[in-house]
Amino acid sequence: MELYDDLAGQVALVTGATRGIGAQIAQNLNELGATVYASARSVDDDVPDGCEKVLLDVTQEGDIEAIADGVFGEVGRLDVLVNNAGIGEFGDDIVAEPTDRINRTLATNLRGPMLLCKHLVPLLLQQEAGRVVNVSSGMGQVSDMGDGSPAYRISKAGLNGLTAYLHGEYNDHGLIANSVCPGWVRTDMGGEEADRSVKKGAETPTWLCRFRPGGESGKFWRDREVIDW
Ligand code: NAP
Repeated sequence: MELYDDLAGQVALVTGATRGIGAQIAQNLNELGATVYASARSVDDDVPDGCEKVLLDVTQEGDIEAIADGVFGEVGRLDVLVNNAGIGEFGDDIVAEPTDRINRTLATNLRGPMLLCKHLVPLLLQQEAGRVVNVSSGMGQVSDMGDGSPAYRISKAGLNGLTAYLHGEYNDHGLIANSVCPGWVRTDMGGEEADRSVKKGAETPTWLCRFRPGGESGKFWRDREVIDW
């Protein structure tokens, strides 16, 4: 696979970069030389050193428009969009799933990335190989759905659908769109029992951000290997 050795001169947006996997991806991209816009919901929250903080709640289309028109309108460039922001409230079957959890989870994990793409794909298409990296989960694998937590599982299955859609619609125009499962990672969401460090969880998402023009697209990855949808 042809990869950029560094991302000097390139511009990235990482959503949900205040902590966990998103903060690590933002830090990695910054260390690779990209100008990184790292999203936070509160002015009081920190993002990794060297990154530019942008205020964004992915459930608020107004925030997304403000970034697309304001920040990126001014910068005039976006090479990489990492849809990382997500919530994971795990529970029982669909009968027991509270409706407000279904709404919240789909709004954050699926509708948010869709609206980010709606407003930012035009800028990504101006590059030879704009990249979208959707941070998904094995829990959203349609081929192996398992049980419990339907809102989360279906939000991630939907996010994978977004990846496949973006590939089908725009790959001919250079866009590279991929989904990635980071594995089970020790974050606020993953918990202390998880078997992976944040650094390990951010490895394959960061690798996908380095794909060069013509790189593989429209796939679901874990540990740099393609996995089933
Ligand atoms: P985390 O530690 O809970 O961090 C979540 C991040 O998303 C925080 O920065 C949070 O910001 C942000 N966020 C939540 N809702 C948001 C919203 N409405 N708008 C903007 N930002 C929002 O989670 P994580 O474990 O790093 O997870 C990152 C991604 O990996 C998620 O998409 C998750 O589903 C996926 N994933 C994680 C695991 C795992 O084991 N950890 C496994 C598979 C997939 P605030 O600080 O403002 O809350």
